[in-house]
Amino acid sequence: MRPDSSVVTETIAAPNHDARRGGARPEILLLHYTGMESGATALERLSGEEAQVSSHYFVEEDGRIVQLVPEERRAWHAGVSWWRGRDDVNSRSIGIEIVNPGHEHGYRAFPAAQIDAVIRLCRDCVARWAIPARNVLGHSDVAPTRKEDPGELFPWDQLFRSGVGHWTEPAKATGGRFLTLGDRGQPVEAYQGLLAAYGYLQEINGTFDEATRSNTFAFQRHFRPSRVDGIADMGSITTLHRLLTSLPTLG
Ligand SMILES: [Zn+2]
Repeated sequence: MRPDSSVVTETIAAPNHDARRGGARPEILLLHYTGMESGATALERLSGEEAQVSSHYFVEEDGRIVQLVPEERRAWHAGVSWWRGRDDVNSRSIGIEIVNPGHEHGYRAFPAAQIDAVIRLCRDCVARWAIPARNVLGHSDVAPTRKEDPGELFPWDQLFRSGVGHWTEPAKATGGRFLTLGDRGQPVEAYQGLLAAYGYLQEINGTFDEATRSNTFAFQRHFRPSRVDGIADMGSITTLHRLLTSLPTLG
């Protein structure tokens, strides 16, 4: 296999991939953590046949980048997922697995060398495929009820400062008015409208239900990581406002 990117260190041809459906092209860059005890076990799983999963890229903690699936093919990393009106995220994305034990096996900070490598890889993919900033996402953004990777320790702010993704300075987590599970009414409806406008799969029904809470968790992990509790406090809602008003007009 010929690597698609000059930043690739090594290639391993993984067997699990198929054609992108309906002629889709990569328009989303989807970031994951591996969520397994070791990088070696995760690489074995993603490059083997049995687990029926794969990703285009795999980034080791020391910054080595392994390509497993050619970008023109559909890798199997997103599962049931949705963003900005589209499902089958696998057909529309490039998937990057980043070694980290994850919340179940001792979640820890991502080493600097690894993040440098992720940034180099993302910049390269975004440039070659013209991927919009707001479509550089975490797995939890597109599958909020099932997934929490890459999680609140992932430095989205640093990526943004390096020209990757969309982000704004988060508003402080504060006391005062908030929306939480079971709340109903117009403020909930307005908040749901903001989540939906940004791209989350959010029904606007005026009830802060489990789905609204899952989206709130996902939103906080990505954009307001200092407090991830599934409660839409004013800081969280203000941050979401700032994101929407700072969206690039194109893409
Ligand atoms: Zn994932």
